[in-house]
Amino acid sequence: MLKLPFNIDLSGKVAVVTGAGGVLCSMFAKAIAQCGAKVVLLDLNEDAAKAIADEIKQEGGKAWAYKADVLNKECVDKLHDQIKAEVGPCEILINGAGGNNPRATTTKEYYFEGDLDADTVSFFDLDKSGVEFVFNLNFLGTLIPTQAFAKDMLDHPGGVILNISSMNAFTPLTKIPAYSGAKAAISNFTQWLAVHFSKVGIRVNAMAPGFFVTKQNEKLLFNEDGTPTPRTGKILAATPMGRFGESEELIGTLLYLLSNEATGFVTGVVIPVDGGFSAYSGV
Ligand code: NAD
Repeated sequence: MLKLPFNIDLSGKVAVVTGAGGVLCSMFAKAIAQCGAKVVLLDLNEDAAKAIADEIKQEGGKAWAYKADVLNKECVDKLHDQIKAEVGPCEILINGAGGNNPRATTTKEYYFEGDLDADTVSFFDLDKSGVEFVFNLNFLGTLIPTQAFAKDMLDHPGGVILNISSMNAFTPLTKIPAYSGAKAAISNFTQWLAVHFSKVGIRVNAMAPGFFVTKQNEKLLFNEDGTPTPRTGKILAATPMGRFGESEELIGTLLYLLSNEATGFVTGVVIPVDGGFSAYSGV
């Protein structure tokens, strides 16, 4: 069982988590199951979602797992109908599916003319379909499930949507222009949606994790032999607390934003959980 920083009461609430087979959202799913939620785990990787659902059930929680592609609107709409019938109407939506892709990543941080060998992916080599993929996964992959599951919240005031932004939404990180732009779009969309749904009792917020080591970024942070890359050195130098976050350190912000008792008047915010990264100018 996870050690929760505090408890909130989500008894009987249906909570849909996308990307729930992944590192961060599997932990979110477990945390809210421990608070009594009926957790619906959606992931492209069905086996990963099922494995986490099984763990939750073994620990006495309530969980359902479904294969889902958050970019396929027809599939998400069908799943929504199925989940509504099998589990109940969605009251909490965590839009966790997201990530970067090597096809939208430059090899180098800075462009130096004449400094390019054959293997270098420069800004000019970035693959349009790679950029499109990353933009769509992060932005449409949040918008499409929201279109499906927020409908349930219209009939039950008190619905909560939580999006996952990133440090690069505040200031872009080198090498990953599409991911940075897409997460900036997520922060912006969180504000837009918060305003749009403000009259119908749905709160929309986001958290912006700083640097946590996960499957998604480990190749950027550590060499194959396990030694830290120069990028890791730069991250730690730019993080006033001087360390990577432990993913459990996101749980307090998760529970805070999901609790209508704690944050009933909070909507449209993006909370950094970053050891001071977004506050630090580097000087
Ligand atoms: P992860 O790669 O471990 O998990 C992402 C999950 O999304 C995977 O299980 C994957 O199968 C699933 N997924 C991918 N495409 C999908 C699709 N089309 N439909 C449904 N599911 C799909 O990543 P993570 O580190 O746990 O990240 C979770 C979220 O947090 C992402 O939005 C990520 O951008 C964000 N984030 C992570 C960090 C970090 O340090 N790890 C920092 C900031 C933001």
